[in-house]
Amino acid sequence: MISRPSDTSDVYCKLGHLHLLLENYDEALSAYQRYYAICPESWKNASFLYGISMTYFHFQFHPWAIKGFQKFLYLYSDHRCCVEVHIRLAYIYSALKEHDSSLKHFQLAYNDSNPSTYTKYQIRFCEAHIYQMKNDCLKAKEVFDELIENALVPDSIRAGSLKQLGWMYHTSESFGDGQYRDTMAVNILRKSIELEPTSGQTWYFLGRCLSSLGKVHDAFVSYRHSIDKSEASADTWCSIGVLYQQQNQHMDALQAYICAVQLDRSHYAAWNDLGLLYESCDQLNDALICYANAIKTAKCSFLFFVLHCLEFVKLGLGLSRNRVKALQTHISNTPAAVFQAKPKSLPSIEEAWTLPIPAELTSRQGIQQKSLQQARSNNERAFSPSKQQQQQQQQLQQQLQQPQQQQQLQQPQQISMQQQQQQQHLFHAAGDEPLSKKRKTDDEVRLLKCFHMQNFHSKDSKLKEEKEDEVKEVLADDAATTGGNRRRFYFGYLPTFLSSINLIHCVCFALLLNKYIPMCRPPSPPPSPSPIYGDKLYPSVPSIYLESKKDVFSIELQQYCYSQSVCVVRGLAGILKLDLGLFSTKTLVELNPDHRVEVRSQVLQAPDDNYNASGEQVWWCDSTRSYTTIARYAHYQAASFQESLKEEDEKSKGHWKEKESDDDSVSSTSKIKRTMIKFGTNIDLSDENKWRVQLQELTKLPAFARVVSASNLLSHIGYNILGVNTVQLYMKVPGSRTPGHQENNNFCGVNINIGPGDCEWFAVPHQYWGSLYRLCQRNNVNYLTGSWWPNLNDLRDNHIPVYRFIQKPGDLVWLGPGTIHWVQSVGWCNNIAWNVGAPIWKQFQLSMNSYAYNKIEHFKSIVPMIHLSWNLARNIKIVDAQLYEMIRRTLLYTLDACCQKMKFIEGLKMNVEYQQKNDHDPVAYCDVCQIEIFNLVFTKTLDKDGKMYCYNCARKCSGQLQNFNVFMQNKIQNLYEVINNFQLGSIVSPIAISLNTNIF
Ligand SMILES: [Zn+2]
Repeated sequence: MISRPSDTSDVYCKLGHLHLLLENYDEALSAYQRYYAICPESWKNASFLYGISMTYFHFQFHPWAIKGFQKFLYLYSDHRCCVEVHIRLAYIYSALKEHDSSLKHFQLAYNDSNPSTYTKYQIRFCEAHIYQMKNDCLKAKEVFDELIENALVPDSIRAGSLKQLGWMYHTSESFGDGQYRDTMAVNILRKSIELEPTSGQTWYFLGRCLSSLGKVHDAFVSYRHSIDKSEASADTWCSIGVLYQQQNQHMDALQAYICAVQLDRSHYAAWNDLGLLYESCDQLNDALICYANAIKTAKCSFLFFVLHCLEFVKLGLGLSRNRVKALQTHISNTPAAVFQAKPKSLPSIEEAWTLPIPAELTSRQGIQQKSLQQARSNNERAFSPSKQQQQQQQQLQQQLQQPQQQQQLQQPQQISMQQQQQQQHLFHAAGDEPLSKKRKTDDEVRLLKCFHMQNFHSKDSKLKEEKEDEVKEVLADDAATTGGNRRRFYFGYLPTFLSSINLIHCVCFALLLNKYIPMCRPPSPPPSPSPIYGDKLYPSVPSIYLESKKDVFSIELQQYCYSQSVCVVRGLAGILKLDLGLFSTKTLVELNPDHRVEVRSQVLQAPDDNYNASGEQVWWCDSTRSYTTIARYAHYQAASFQESLKEEDEKSKGHWKEKESDDDSVSSTSKIKRTMIKFGTNIDLSDENKWRVQLQELTKLPAFARVVSASNLLSHIGYNILGVNTVQLYMKVPGSRTPGHQENNNFCGVNINIGPGDCEWFAVPHQYWGSLYRLCQRNNVNYLTGSWWPNLNDLRDNHIPVYRFIQKPGDLVWLGPGTIHWVQSVGWCNNIAWNVGAPIWKQFQLSMNSYAYNKIEHFKSIVPMIHLSWNLARNIKIVDAQLYEMIRRTLLYTLDACCQKMKFIEGLKMNVEYQQKNDHDPVAYCDVCQIEIFNLVFTKTLDKDGKMYCYNCARKCSGQLQNFNVFMQNKIQNLYEVINNFQLGSIVSPIAISLNTNIF
């Protein structure tokens, strides 16, 4: 070999780009993978990240595409291609039905003025469509109307908007009564057709609305137009079938349904309707075949599961399953002779399958007479199934199944008519090419080959997971290694007014930065720690029994807590004479009966279980939100308690009920009794006027665990962040669940059980968050935003240790930084909780990690870590050298970034307005990207609503910051002084910090 290794690797990367441009996606992927394998620092190559992510996107490998795109945005947030990345992320999230994330990325794309393959109108249209999909009809209508009324918008987009709006009138009850809505829908759809007469789908929608208005003839005409205009659509045929069935034209209905399933053998609705049709004609065997196909269609496609699309189908699926069961019972109970004797009114499914599609279905003249004749002749053709026919039937069944399996890959998103329309036409409707022209075709198949994953969609889930991991490798992260490349540093960047500060300082500053700021690898969930086995998987929880006041205020207690992932402190309430009764339901009702309570409606389950409605163990944990008042929740809590007393009483009297409950447990899998309970959560106790006595009582706690104290980092934020540096209350009945999570930005947690009942806790050390993240991903629930209840067997199988323990009334649970935990109440009880920032390096490090990880996920960090770092430097003296270094690094990094921005702004001769931030004002967050804004806040000159922009989003909006105002909250010189005055404390003290100022 003549060339150096780096040259070779570059060739692979370029080869990848070339193939990508030529749309040779599988070749592109293998070239990129080769590049990845031989180039350890591939993640620093923007074009590689972009290219491989685009390739993943093409193949609809969503998790990997997301990861790659997120890294790209994190590392190259000012790149001109960000707009393309946002559009694709938005598209992926819409396919995953994560509508809020999808909207976020469309909005980020909309804000970006860089040239893009999508026009602003198209993006706006997509945004409206997402609102429609998440059932926010008013918002969707608002945006559609905006597009319809704007004469500058191209006809295709206006027609698309009218089409969507019309369909929304038909489907959404929030627009009034049915008759009115359908009349409106018909008018709007006709307007759309005027603008764009060639849209088969609009004609189809119009047909549906007309049919719903009872205008059967007009509906047929529309459907016929639809079939003329567009490529043959299974949906249209299915709807025609429904129309015929409603008219009792069974033979026509049959043929229409057959057309639908022949066009798309995985069309769930058509199979289901066909089953219903046969059932209504008493042809139960045929019905059975159709239902079985409907079920198979809905089941088993791997991509299907990946796409989270299942819930929707399950509703329908449950129906089909029950139907099949009922039919099977019915058939098995019916003597065979009955079937033989019964005349058939329709051809059997296998006969129907081979019937030619009659031309009459496309031109309706004379259809009624014709169909009548046909029906009659069919009636005469009564037959009893011969052996040969039975064989045919089996063959047919196989035939129906086989192509179906192939088709699953091609049609992963085909779930129901409506959903399919929404998914498929999201991008078509904008009058543009879909993002990837050959979505869900044989590309997948080729990809599978490409990865040597013939078994990728096999039912062997273990194998599937292995293969998934294999693929993931390509974008896997090795958190341990950080890039060697130092960030380049230029002396010239300092703003002119800083140059008066002596040069030596600047040089020091430069050197410091160079030392401190390597180009950081984008954060990602860490690899799993090395596996542990046996008893180590079930550690007993560290706990402390306090005996005296001396114990409570000892430094040993504080240090012990700081050193644990989780620990239970017992005996505290007694020694401190804490009046827990102040937080009892009785007192709360007397004090503030009308105070707001957030309610989570949950299914009552044993702590080891988490079944969904179909009786499967899952991670997703149902928890729907509503609101009530303390008085009303108290009433519910008391009534639930009374109820159980009554039951206990009956049980103790040896009632017959016992036996019945035994029967229940036997058949628990077939009929799951789902009892709903209500959990009163996140009750805000921050108001000192309303909760003075309660908050006062909590000051008896030792300083390190107090809501407000100098040693609590969160007390230096300067304003209230509800539930973080303020107290929250929880009111529970047995079974109330707090799903799995880490505290906001990995801060520590304090939780006291008020009683009278117990709570059961589950906790996993923070090192395992990557493992849990991956398990959530496998179980189709978002780690950060989803609601999940870990399956303990899954944790054991993945070598994840779990602390499991009971928190008695009066017990304080201390959660270390980043500990993952989930809690379920055993009895009736209230809890109080808040976060604490431990002044130790591990706390700060984990908080910053979480801050960075939230950023890559576009998830808002509730604790403004930059603002907090500056306040800490201003307020306290730190003696822990590692903690000091970390805070200092944050200050230097943010000041450096600020100076670079200032340099650009000064180059534009912009006027920077100084607007000092009040100590107790909340930190500004960017209204576009949700990131904490440090020091330079941008607003649009003409914006009345005062939307705030970060530098990055402002520049995305206008590269030269035209029409923007900029406000500076701290003079650079003052910040510089803060850094200079921030010195490592020398006092050797067990408490890591002491105060500079008397702020408390
Ligand atoms: Zn922003």
